[in-house]
Amino acid sequence: MKSSLPTIPDTCAIPGTPLSDARAGIDACVHCGFCLQACPTYLTLEDENDSPRGRIVLMRALVDGSLPVDDGDVRTHIDRCLGCRACETACPSGVPYGHLLEATRATLTRVKPNPPVARLILFAFARPALLRLVMLGGRIARATRMSRLLSRLPGRFGFAMAMLESTRSAVKRARYVPRSDAERGTATLLTGCVMEGLFAPTNRATERALSANGYAMTATAGQRCCGALHAHAGDDEGARQLARANIAAFERSRADYIVVNAAGCGAMMKEYGQLLAGDAAWHERAAKLASRVRDVSELLAEAGPRPGGALPVKVTYDAPCHLLHAQRLATPPLRVLAAVPGLELVPLDGSEHCCGSAGIYNLIEPDVSDRVLAPKLANIAATRAPMVATGNPGCLMQIGAGLHRAGMTCRAVHPVDLLDASYAAQAAAERGS
Ligand code: SF4
Ligand code: SF4
Repeated sequence: MKSSLPTIPDTCAIPGTPLSDARAGIDACVHCGFCLQACPTYLTLEDENDSPRGRIVLMRALVDGSLPVDDGDVRTHIDRCLGCRACETACPSGVPYGHLLEATRATLTRVKPNPPVARLILFAFARPALLRLVMLGGRIARATRMSRLLSRLPGRFGFAMAMLESTRSAVKRARYVPRSDAERGTATLLTGCVMEGLFAPTNRATERALSANGYAMTATAGQRCCGALHAHAGDDEGARQLARANIAAFERSRADYIVVNAAGCGAMMKEYGQLLAGDAAWHERAAKLASRVRDVSELLAEAGPRPGGALPVKVTYDAPCHLLHAQRLATPPLRVLAAVPGLELVPLDGSEHCCGSAGIYNLIEPDVSDRVLAPKLANIAATRAPMVATGNPGCLMQIGAGLHRAGMTCRAVHPVDLLDASYAAQAAAERGS
């Protein structure tokens, strides 16, 4: 199929920018519109400018100079994109939309910086000591039930407190010592900023579940934020700096696999090669490191995973966009849940649609985020499941906060937490027999 629009002329209005370097991706779009019905912002806002096809037209206009890079409307429509990459899955022409979006944001933020709240968050995530302090404050607010109290406040602050409240563990944990006769190689965990800060029990559950399936776990010192928030917000240099630090740290670990239990972080690390494509000193190292990265569900699915003890619970599953669309992993998380005897998996309508979290999107584009979340909550309610499983901290907090604010008793939980609880139940049954 030929494009209905001409390709961008050789003359470029914004030479030397990330977007001008990505113009081949813009040319790949044939404007067929197959992506429209997959796009949550198009379905929500019903404006072609808030669709993938419309945004690509705007990108083209920036490159050919028919629109200036400081155009306020262009910025609005680009800012409203969730970066969920559902359009990539739907696109028959292989348009690298996620890459185009990051290149566009990197170009636009050079003209007009992100809002202060976004810059503050990116600043904190790039500084481990500051981030540890922020996470400690969050844990104190959670432990003292301050987050529960403040989650009743209206507006974004109340929603942020509900997000924090939703990180309270939804799974009862019994201790067990994971054992396995299998030898599947060594793995080291990207502990992650939010995962280690607010979901540390899930990180420990991840290590136990992998050990129970034959992976020898090792720790990696010196690891940092993966850089996904920075890349998605247009801070491409910030993302590259964090990627280089992680490459150096994980090279020292020498584990066969770098395992990630946060879908957004895993997608970012698998793309370190592209992120550092223009850096001769780091590109090869980045690509080599990326080839070792696995989502936790991938490694567990490769191992079976081995079934645990009975856990009679009804669960529905919501697919994180960066697992389904960016990493193209649809079945491994379902295999993790299928390894839990007694678990009844109830299908979720619209599981493939974004929940509206999208990194820090829910904090800087609250209205659209809420409107994208609403049908997700309605679909979860229709399943009548008391738990919704999803493998990404942003989704866990967005859906968890939405459920909490709606007064629903359903809890969001990581699939690995359920497998770990199943192994704990098995160990308890063996001790009792
Ligand atoms: S990334 Fe998601 S929100 Fe953005 S254009 Fe693609 S489908 Fe729409
Ligand atoms: S992004 Fe892909 S699916 Fe969407 S209009 Fe362009 S070619 Fe078609």
